Amino acid sequence: MPLILHRDGVLSAYEAAVTRGWVIPAFGVENLTTIEAVLAATRDCGQRVGRADLPVILALTNLYEHRTQSRYYTHTRRWDVGMKLFLADVAVLTAADSPFADLSVMIHLDHIQPDLDADLLTWDMGQFSSIMFDASKLPLEENMEATARFVREHGDRIVIEGACDEIVDATGDEISVLTTPERAEEFVGRTGVDLIVANLGTEHRASAADLWYHGDLARQIKEVVGRKLVLHGTSSVPNDQIGRLFDDGICKVNIWTALERDSSPALLEQMVRHASKVGGPQMAQRLNDDRLLGNGALLADPFHLDFFTTAYRQGIVFEEMKRVVTRYLGLWYG
Ligand SMILES: [Zn+2]
Repeated sequence: MPLILHRDGVLSAYEAAVTRGWVIPAFGVENLTTIEAVLAATRDCGQRVGRADLPVILALTNLYEHRTQSRYYTHTRRWDVGMKLFLADVAVLTAADSPFADLSVMIHLDHIQPDLDADLLTWDMGQFSSIMFDASKLPLEENMEATARFVREHGDRIVIEGACDEIVDATGDEISVLTTPERAEEFVGRTGVDLIVANLGTEHRASAADLWYHGDLARQIKEVVGRKLVLHGTSSVPNDQIGRLFDDGICKVNIWTALERDSSPALLEQMVRHASKVGGPQMAQRLNDDRLLGNGALLADPFHLDFFTTAYRQGIVFEEMKRVVTRYLGLWYG
């Protein structure tokens, strides 16, 4: 199935997911390795559950202060270059001759900022499946006005997700107030967005303590606005809290931090274990002398092509990210 970009097609994919009891995952991707890990895990999951056309969303932020993902996509650190490379990579990986051609892939612009991302917002929105228009830095009244304006201007082309509350950012300075059903109803009524991000107790800081996903609150919001909820900050809560998201009215769930956080340890371990093949015996001996390595690490074996390449390092990250994605897919696709 080709990339699903048209608004009607995207809405159809969400409707189909509802009839099957699925929550559609949106994985943050800021490099090709992550994209391939997400697509490979989704394809394998589709084979397991007997559906080759499983939906999956590839998401990336632009100049969102917490994480400027289009910039990280390229070592030029230019967002426009990164965004074009992302679109080009996804086009190749979803083309008819791609190994992932059967999947229902959508691409999502995440946390797009009305001010910082003004240039990106002049691009053709038809290149993307959906956008989170994130005006949550503004006071709520202004947020609703700006979001409503964006929906009037672009709502016929692209599925729009609004942020109906203050979202606590990476600095953690703001006070987190859970979204009430009344506020969610007002936000949807006044802006006309397709989807909303409510504050349900999760955060964007995966390390923060005492986070709790409030499924009861999500269900109350679903009662008044319907099945429009998007959950962000999913990496910050244990998986046992998020296995029943469909019942709570969540239709899309965003995950990024866990992919990076949980693949980095695997890379560290593998490189330490194979130290001399990765860095050469001299370096391994030096690290050992500095007591950074121990008896378990290879110290004397020579440099080895299978271990000192970028492909080796990315391969470890790819396999581990694939495992993380597979775990999440198991929660929502069975
Ligand atoms: Zn988010």
